[in-house]
Amino acid sequence: MTNFSTYNFSNQKALIRVDFNVPLDASYHITDDTRIKATIPTIQKILKDGGSVILMSHLGRPKDGPTEKYSLKHLVGHLSELLGGIKVKFADDCIGASAVELSASLKPGEVLLLENLRFYKEEETGDEAFAQKLAKLGDVYVNDAFGTAHRAHASTAVIAKYFPKNKKMFGLLMESEVRSAEKVMHKNEKPFVAIIGGAKVSDKILIIENLLETATDIIIGGGMAYTFMKADDGKIGKSLCEDDRLQTALDILQRAEAKGVCIHLPSDSIIADNFSADANTSTSPSNNIPDGWMGLDIGPNAAEQFCNVIKHSKTILWNGPMGVFEMEKFQHGTKAIATAVAQATQNGAFSLVGGGDSVAAVNQFGFADKVSYVSTGGGALLEYFEGKTLPGIAAIND
Ligand code: AMP
Repeated sequence: MTNFSTYNFSNQKALIRVDFNVPLDASYHITDDTRIKATIPTIQKILKDGGSVILMSHLGRPKDGPTEKYSLKHLVGHLSELLGGIKVKFADDCIGASAVELSASLKPGEVLLLENLRFYKEEETGDEAFAQKLAKLGDVYVNDAFGTAHRAHASTAVIAKYFPKNKKMFGLLMESEVRSAEKVMHKNEKPFVAIIGGAKVSDKILIIENLLETATDIIIGGGMAYTFMKADDGKIGKSLCEDDRLQTALDILQRAEAKGVCIHLPSDSIIADNFSADANTSTSPSNNIPDGWMGLDIGPNAAEQFCNVIKHSKTILWNGPMGVFEMEKFQHGTKAIATAVAQATQNGAFSLVGGGDSVAAVNQFGFADKVSYVSTGGGALLEYFEGKTLPGIAAIND
């Protein structure tokens, strides 16, 4: 595979697939620029080498072609600022005349942003002719969009076949995402604990099943823990429960036992009389929650028990909060876990946090720089840990 860091981009037009799918407010201001910031080092390396950069991305889910709301032109000003004030050119169509002309006249050191790829339905259908038109814009293809690596779209996977092996590669962000995910899944040092939380068992079954093959411990918290409690004849009041997953939960517990993987469920819970920030609360064993009450966070004993496992681990994967961390009364469990993961990291463990709300939690509690790696890929990271081949990765590796 071609190595991005040692490749010389001098006089090359690099066509980079980035993930600029950022949230915008009603006045089209970016409310979280994490994804743009994450790819700046890749852009800068190419410019420093004396190359030029053509950026392509999707934004949102436009249904019927070009829509003001989903135009990437809203990102031009901020992108220019993040690149130290250099002018960012904009093509109002990703494959039309403006894209062709602007990319053809692009000079070393210049940056061009193409309009939203998803204004063409061909992007998501993985259309070959569309991918080929995009490919013609650049001399070399760089994929830095880990967040869309699980999609077999024209710009994330299909396009790679139009570049020879020495002209396609991962960007710096993609490289570090893949490296840290591989380290956890395939090169982990034991003990390896996977902390899985969040709302639903159904979203996390595949990942838990796959982790049974490699983890030594799996901590299950958040709303999904109550399906496991009920499956084991526990009383869970009106806690979140997926009744159609009770057998799945039992199967997971049995398979874990057979494989010698220790599953840790919360012994106690913070319970509430309704789902609200000012609900009445109490502490209860997680398998004996009174009628009319629901578990909205792990309790103090469970937090201590989980933190002990985390502190003795050498590899940590964290996906999903331990409770309804958006409400102050139910964020102690998630905070305690974040603290333990940070401590274990300081003591030499490798910790990867990824997949949606656990990333929001470490950011909210100020722990993002105290863990080894915070992934930018939600769905992509989950699919990686489910054991699936990600088309965006395979297209470069093949
Ligand atoms: P997920 O996207 O599956 O990782 O789920 C994250 C969501 O799960 C967050 O919005 C949490 O508020 C929610 N959550 C965590 N614990 C619970 C719980 N015990 N009951 C209900 N929702 C929960």
